[in-house]
Amino acid sequence: MDCLFCKIIAGEIPCKRVYEDDRVLAIYDINPQAKIHVLVVPKQHICCTNAINSDNSEAVAAVFEAIPKIANSLGIESYRVINNCGEKAGQSVMHLHFHLLNDEKLGAKIV
Ligand code: AMP
Ligand code: ZN
Repeated sequence: MDCLFCKIIAGEIPCKRVYEDDRVLAIYDINPQAKIHVLVVPKQHICCTNAINSDNSEAVAAVFEAIPKIANSLGIESYRVINNCGEKAGQSVMHLHFHLLNDEKLGAKIV
């Protein structure tokens, strides 16, 4: 499958790894939008939030179980988690992922 994150998960493309377990990989974003910008990615290929269902939601739960561990390992307790679903929302990689952002003070809130 021609998917950037599947290739990173398979070790075919290098990344800066932050966290890994059997279901989740977290890497530093190549184009950081905050002092800390990590992508938390389920290893299972799910294209976007629209494709989450009762058959694959365990992978999403694994992502959210990993997030506090990742935050703790980074020494942060305040952060923002963002998911872009679909092109019009800014999704550029069609493999589900969550942006974990931390800075001294994050910018204006969208929500
Ligand atoms: P999105 O725009 O929500 O789909 O997020 C995709 C993110 O992947 C962007 O923030 C990109 O900067 C990031 N990205 C693209 N290629 C790589 C890569 N090779 N390694 C790490 N992050 C990447
Ligand atoms: Zn993929």
